[in-house]
Amino acid sequence: ISPPRYIGRFAPSPTGPLHLGSVVAALASWLDARAAQAQGFASQWLVRIEDVDTQRSRAEFGRYILAQLEALGLQSDAPPQWQSTRHRIYQQTLDALRQRSLTYPCSCSRKDIEQAWAARGMQRFRFETLAYPGTCAQRTQVSPVRAWRLHTAKAQAPDAIIAWEDRRRGLQQQDVASAVGDFVLLRADGMWSYQLACVVDDALQGVTHIVRGEDLLDNTARQILLQKILHHPQPSYLHIPLALDGRGEKLSKSNGAPSIDAKQPLVVLCQAAERLGLPTSNLGPSHRPSDALQSWVHAWPQRYPLPSRGA
Ligand code: GLU
Repeated sequence: ISPPRYIGRFAPSPTGPLHLGSVVAALASWLDARAAQAQGFASQWLVRIEDVDTQRSRAEFGRYILAQLEALGLQSDAPPQWQSTRHRIYQQTLDALRQRSLTYPCSCSRKDIEQAWAARGMQRFRFETLAYPGTCAQRTQVSPVRAWRLHTAKAQAPDAIIAWEDRRRGLQQQDVASAVGDFVLLRADGMWSYQLACVVDDALQGVTHIVRGEDLLDNTARQILLQKILHHPQPSYLHIPLALDGRGEKLSKSNGAPSIDAKQPLVVLCQAAERLGLPTSNLGPSHRPSDALQSWVHAWPQRYPLPSRGA
């Protein structure tokens, strides 16, 4: 019998160089893939550059991130895939969903959405937390067409609630239709949404295990819903704790987290490993980054055991 397959990935958006928070996610997914290999899986770790947002992404940052990963000893087992080259496949997916009447065009601006909620008596809200009120789902004529949305109520039936098991956070549930509403697949600015591109690529790259930061936990139900209607297998999920800065805020580009210094790979790797609760006191300047990585491959399954096979 052939060994069980493990395909993991790290999927950075090239909006800036790697910062410590993104290295934590890269290291965690790499260690999980290597620990699986040590347990007999036929394992691969892939890097995917998520540059669908052409306003915010820059090819130089993509290349720079790949060089930074290489300096840390975290190299993709296959040539990195760039989402900006995959327009056709996302379009085919949208067309297929459209033919099944699972999508609809939307002309709503941000203001329209806010007004629709205000008209329902909701006065104070943060736009980011608003579910789409479904205005255009009822319209027979939509003009101008700005975005394409998934008809979640149609897509979700008969599973009104998406339930899934996270390897660290346990049972998770979300009623996508009421929590986020009919979410966007093709944005008003003509760009593919993160949800659509991510789900299509995870499936086509054969990803079996997703390890990423906890800030993405809330996207997972939407992604599982898309997997269900596209008949894609569901990967296993591990959302790792977020790396926080001294003020307790998420380390991110928008919060001004600095680029890592890839000239000091061992220092950077140890900082990331500490955030993941891995031992570093046994490592000194005489160790190479590869020694450090190897020691954590052994320590990893004690902290984050792999889900039992077939689970
Ligand atoms: N591109 C996403 C980000 O940088 C990560 C996507 C994922 O891991 O699913 O936040």
